[in-house]
Amino acid sequence: HSAGNVSGSFVFYSDSMNQSIAGRLYLESSMRKALENQEFYLQYQPKVDIQSGKIIGAEALLRWQHPEKGLISPAEFIPVAEETGLILQIDAWVLETACAQAKEWQDSGIAPFRIAVNVTAREFTNSLPMRIKEALQRYQISPQWLELEITESMLMHSTQSVIAIMEQITAQNVILALDDFGTGYSSLSYLKRFPIDTLKIDRSFILNIPTDQNDCAIASAIIMMAKQLKHKVIAEGVETREQLAFLINAGCDEVQGYLYSRPVSPQQLIALLDKNFHFDI
Ligand code: C2E
Ligand code: MG
Ligand code: MG
Ligand code: MG
Repeated sequence: HSAGNVSGSFVFYSDSMNQSIAGRLYLESSMRKALENQEFYLQYQPKVDIQSGKIIGAEALLRWQHPEKGLISPAEFIPVAEETGLILQIDAWVLETACAQAKEWQDSGIAPFRIAVNVTAREFTNSLPMRIKEALQRYQISPQWLELEITESMLMHSTQSVIAIMEQITAQNVILALDDFGTGYSSLSYLKRFPIDTLKIDRSFILNIPTDQNDCAIASAIIMMAKQLKHKVIAEGVETREQLAFLINAGCDEVQGYLYSRPVSPQQLIALLDKNFHFDI
């Protein structure tokens, strides 16, 4: 940090650009330019079947290579993009790019796996099912290539219309996952009514497994509940063999995390497809 007194007015420069209003304005105008100048790209993080050790999907994660600031984390710019509404254009770009990638992989004869795209609350509107349908048609990809990750927070309001939107999406055979599960406030009584395929246990519950008994209990409970509700369950942020051993034991279906792979380029992901992830645990 540095502070200066310029002609009587106090000026404060913060390292963390997103904390000041000037920083936010700067981020916003940079994001607009970034869309035009193609500074965004996607990385893909494998999702692995816990039993077979095979990759069954990948999550598309947005990256921003800023010409001066270097790589900026989505955790930093997505919240600003959400506030300014720019997230709609950004997420539209993400859906397009992920579908174009799926098309390329589909045409190259690779066995289909799901590409998961994150969707923000603002995008979860009545027009979403149609936009997905159009994207699938435009790129001529089979719906089994596409998965959407939505968060609990967007399920809190007007449950009936939210369910209707979800049903229109799953009717197209697109997979729906509930991301960061456990961190939101969704009522369990509503959970059974949501046409969700997969529950994704938030990384915060995985982090301290197996030492933290509370986290172990929560993770096990989510896995059991998911099974009872006939949902698949995936754990995110799996970094250690100990965590994996616990999740296997608890009956988790799928895993994702640095233990397997960090988010990688499309080329690197293809190279990983032949790999069988086996760990001595
Ligand atoms: P998320 O959807 O929950 O994604 C998981 C985040 O955890 C990613 O961070 C991923 O790189 C990170 N991660 C995965 N495995 C591990 C691990 O083993 N250890 C640790 N420490 N971290 C791990 P990332 O890429 O920085 O993304 C952060 C968040 O930004 C995402 O959380 C998602 O909410 C949002 N985001 C990313 N891409 C998009 C996008 O295209 N659209 C929207 N709307 N949001 C996005
Ligand atoms: Mg996600
Ligand atoms: Mg997540
Ligand atoms: Mg998360």
